[in-house]
Amino acid sequence: MNINWYPGHMKKTRESIQKSLTMVDIVFELIDARIPASSQNPVIDSIVGEKPRVIILNKSDLANSHGNKIWQEYFLGKNISSVCLDALSGKGIDRLLEISYDLTDEKRKAYEKRGVISRPTRAMILGIPNVGKSTLINSLSGRKGAKTGNKPGVTKSNQWIKTKGNLELLDTPGILWPKFEDPDVGLNLAFTGAIKDEILDIETLALRLVERLTNYFPNLLNNRYNIEIEGKSYLEIMEEIGRRRGCIIKGGEIDYTKVSNIVLDEFRKGVIGNITLEFPKE
Ligand code: GDP
Repeated sequence: MNINWYPGHMKKTRESIQKSLTMVDIVFELIDARIPASSQNPVIDSIVGEKPRVIILNKSDLANSHGNKIWQEYFLGKNISSVCLDALSGKGIDRLLEISYDLTDEKRKAYEKRGVISRPTRAMILGIPNVGKSTLINSLSGRKGAKTGNKPGVTKSNQWIKTKGNLELLDTPGILWPKFEDPDVGLNLAFTGAIKDEILDIETLALRLVERLTNYFPNLLNNRYNIEIEGKSYLEIMEEIGRRRGCIIKGGEIDYTKVSNIVLDEFRKGVIGNITLEFPKE
């Protein structure tokens, strides 16, 4: 679904999220492990403020394990706890619950002093569209629930979902706007499907992905499609993939739309390989 983020929407989103934040002890900030910087909301720090926060590198099953490690170290250097997660399988959830328990320890002790024992930790999930918020809510709660619509901000219901680890999760996540000033960030978001083929037509987008993969992960491209890359232009590589995959139309021409869809789809599913597309700049 397309979302158009206007200044007015952003302001409203921010306000409704900040209102919800007053009800929780901790924030689970979801980002995409393949593009941790690009998938972060530009003003997340000022939205979350001093509230305890865990950065969740979600879809870490699709990213590179070396990349996952580097990003965790990077966030540690900034004094922010992070955890690698696969929200689909639930891998990493136990670690998330542990971190969440530790980060809310002070508050729990303050409650215990006042005689409130075993008060659940209240959490809310924040993240840009398609980063896996609904999947994580379903995984934590064990429900098969419907997808939370990608409407800006927080939907009104504000129910608490009890999960394991004595956690209470706000049932509707805060949907944040992505970065959109930097064209490279836009490309990363489009490659991973965070913004659905909105910024470029599918053929140009796939060609840019082939360019990126050729330059940084030539072996993966090679292995997946069994093609020779040396000395070829990006377009020639794309055509080669097309021929390998039988993307041919009448007259022997390459079906560019078909091969573009294949490359993008296979990248997004992780079948080309475990790929982290960006690393910390510092
Ligand atoms: P939301 O818009 O943030 O609520 O995102 P969704 O929960 O709808 O997830 C978007 C897509 O990413 C869906 O197709 C999910 O199946 C997929 N997804 C979510 N989390 C993961 C994950 O950890 N690993 C993988 N491989 N896919 C995931």
